[in-house]
Amino acid sequence: SKEDVQAFFKKNAFVLFTVAAVVVGIILGFALRPYKMTYREVKYFSFPGELLMRMLQMLVLPLLVSSLITGMAALDSKASGKMGMRAVVYYMTTTIIAVIIGIIVVLIIHPGKGSKDEFMKQSKIEDISPADAFLDLIRNMFPPNMIQACTQQFKTKYGKRIVHVTMTVNDSVFNLTNLTEQITREEVIPIPGTVNGVNALGLVVFSMCFGLIIGNMKEQGQPLREFFDSLNEAIMRLVAIIMWYAPIGILFLISGKIVEMDDITEMGGQLAMYTITVIIGLSIHAFIILPGLYFAITRLNPFIFIMGLVEALITALGTSSSSATLPITFKCLEENNKVDKRITRFVLPVGATINMDGTALYEALAAIFIAQVNNMEMNIGQIITISITATAASIGAAGIPQAGLVTMVIVLTSVGLPTDDITLIIAVDWFLDRLRTTTNVLGDSIGAGIVEFLSRHELQAKDVEMGNAVLEE
Ligand code: ASP
Repeated sequence: SKEDVQAFFKKNAFVLFTVAAVVVGIILGFALRPYKMTYREVKYFSFPGELLMRMLQMLVLPLLVSSLITGMAALDSKASGKMGMRAVVYYMTTTIIAVIIGIIVVLIIHPGKGSKDEFMKQSKIEDISPADAFLDLIRNMFPPNMIQACTQQFKTKYGKRIVHVTMTVNDSVFNLTNLTEQITREEVIPIPGTVNGVNALGLVVFSMCFGLIIGNMKEQGQPLREFFDSLNEAIMRLVAIIMWYAPIGILFLISGKIVEMDDITEMGGQLAMYTITVIIGLSIHAFIILPGLYFAITRLNPFIFIMGLVEALITALGTSSSSATLPITFKCLEENNKVDKRITRFVLPVGATINMDGTALYEALAAIFIAQVNNMEMNIGQIITISITATAASIGAAGIPQAGLVTMVIVLTSVGLPTDDITLIIAVDWFLDRLRTTTNVLGDSIGAGIVEFLSRHELQAKDVEMGNAVLEE
């Protein structure tokens, strides 16, 4: 009937718009390239995209805090402990699989040819000791000042050196060279785990503890539970509005980037092979491993699940930021895939902050590529070191554009590779970053589906205990 058609269109309107935005964005981008816009013109042109990025980021802080607190408070500590364990096991397993895939494809394809001639190499990056970086990661879990953790101006210590942190996110959507400059000027390195000046990791730790406590507080906790629940609901309604604007933003983010990018035909052979290798590695993980795992555990069709995530995946592609995508990921999982809110609230913010399969795969692969370019053979011990540091670096990387490139310093230093050589791969990072971000978001989402399935008994028990599904609207 007419209503059915309308309902179908309404249900799929976002997906249709979003896919159309990508297609139009690509066409428009290539159509405008011959005009050789100036940097300023490109900025003006991609302004609608910048606005989307800012709107999404605007919601990340309240969304992350309110969803984690309500998510934790809705479960008793035993149930949340179990679910937390499942999530952590999933994160670790998939990250390690990703790293192994990265290593295998780069060893088999061997894109690096032992010569740097064809790269445009840039200047010096100062070494960061892996131990210091690791301590920084832990430090950031406990922000001494919660207000400051929500705002800007972080300083951190890598060893003795004070590194100033810039807010690279705000303009990095179209200003990726800015980050490149910052790396090569070796002054500014974003703190691992900071998102747009927000110490995400610190907020995650705090919100989880806080939610757990108010969940155990009985009547006394009630006002706080209601407050954060209502805050969360309000934020999600804002997300629903932004989603109408998202396709426009994505269109301009993508076309703006295509207008701005360097000429691909000038790309050297090794870099082209490297790009292909990364694409193959990420594809194996995203199209075979993650769906396979989902199917193996739930016996449900993973591709139907993935279809529900299209808008989130495309937003990840457009924004290069899994944090900025978080609001959309929530919507997709809860509304399209009907994942229980008690799961998404609890699992997604943590996943977006620490679970980055694409980044882990990328960092291991890139480190070995750089070794190949330098004609260095990595022995088994070094490969294991790379696996461990790449995992740590992916946990430490913030969900912002090109964060993975920055934390790669840790991986390279750990096996004595020249950190300056990060600049060899900078030319293609804007593109590969988008792909690994999409993989990261997919990993988080499939994780939510798997954890929900594994936790179905706890969820049911809780429903029975509460009289019925209270959180289910
Ligand atoms: N941009 C990625 C993300 O937001 C992180 C990275 O640079 O690998 O997930």
